[in-house]
Amino acid sequence: MTVRGNIDLHHSRSTAEADRRGNLREIKSLLLSELQEKLREFAEPSYRAGQIMNWLYEKRASGFEEMSDLPQALRARLAEHFSVSKLHVVRVLGSHDTTLKFLFRLSDGNLIESVLIPASPALYGQKSDRRTACVSTQVGCAYGCKFCASGLDGFSSNLSANEIVDQIITIESASGQKIDNIVFMGMGEPLANFDNVMRAIRILNAPWGLGIGARHITVSTSGLAPQIRKLADEPLQIRLAISLHGATDEVRNQIMPINRRYNLEALLSACDYFVERKKQRLTFEYILIARVNDTGEQAHLLVRHAHRLSAKVNLIPYNTVQGLPWSRPSLNRQEKFLSTLRRHGISATLRREKGGDIDAACGQLRLQTKREELASA
Ligand code: SAH
Ligand code: SF4
Repeated sequence: MTVRGNIDLHHSRSTAEADRRGNLREIKSLLLSELQEKLREFAEPSYRAGQIMNWLYEKRASGFEEMSDLPQALRARLAEHFSVSKLHVVRVLGSHDTTLKFLFRLSDGNLIESVLIPASPALYGQKSDRRTACVSTQVGCAYGCKFCASGLDGFSSNLSANEIVDQIITIESASGQKIDNIVFMGMGEPLANFDNVMRAIRILNAPWGLGIGARHITVSTSGLAPQIRKLADEPLQIRLAISLHGATDEVRNQIMPINRRYNLEALLSACDYFVERKKQRLTFEYILIARVNDTGEQAHLLVRHAHRLSAKVNLIPYNTVQGLPWSRPSLNRQEKFLSTLRRHGISATLRREKGGDIDAACGQLRLQTKREELASA
């Protein structure tokens, strides 16, 4: 699917979204100020909004009837206007001390996936005792990168803010672990669902919400240059990861259709702007794909781009997707690429097999389940 197709789909989406949610608003999509405003309309004191947020994000209430310190009449009124969303857990793969992969069903029947990574020493410079959630932002993806499972079926819909927040809440309740680091690296292109993603980030970051520090939230993009600039203008100090995967237009054009719209220079100059505004280092993600982007020449050009932005580089051996022709280079070749970067002073990591489970977030579990469902239908 083309990028232009994505934009058209966004327009038709808003009516679909209203339909599937009926007249009730999802309360977990609201900011504190918006809930306070609503309570003013109800002629209720605004401190009630804080109580409600506490029930939702601290006590994890699943309905208004549980909110025992609210007057009965208010609970009934809230239930007339709002719903409390819930994700249905379809599958959990993995064990408690390793990566856990979750497949969720949304209220409209669509499938999305998230991953819990218990410890991530090599992930974006965070401390190794962090528990990271890798979350989805869309159902499918319109950007159609040639190596990625998420884009195979094209784009279906944007996730709402509460569907994004619910992934973290549900992972915590299902695993019994507290999440303290979030990466938007599951299914979908976060910057193509900018408003809902930013709203979710505000809720995840807020003291009345999940209280996760902005520096522990990383947004990953395939290269939507204008939205990178928009993100740079946002006040929150969230981190940015760029899915580069090629150090020249030639290589990026071959595997990432987005590059025909925003070429490498357009992308890098948006990154310059981000770094300048945020005074923050960003990360280049670089999947190593055999015979596509793993040459010495690509490594040397990547060094140049990383120096320009003082960026860190995260090398990821390609995770094979059933039905796609790509494969990862030999271990020897991966190491060689890494050592070229390091020799030139770039701070770079190579994700080894063990932590590589995160890559299964990119639509692969969903794809597998959809295929199984089709096979048994
Ligand atoms: N759309 C955003 C975020 C989701 S993808 C983006 O592209 O950045 C998260 C990361 O996983 C991206 O860097 C993506 O390129 C990578 N990825 C996708 N398929 C992969 C695969 N089969 N093996 C390894 N990494 C993959
Ligand atoms: Fe979409 Fe990212 Fe996959 Fe590209 S890599 S198809 S942008 S999810």
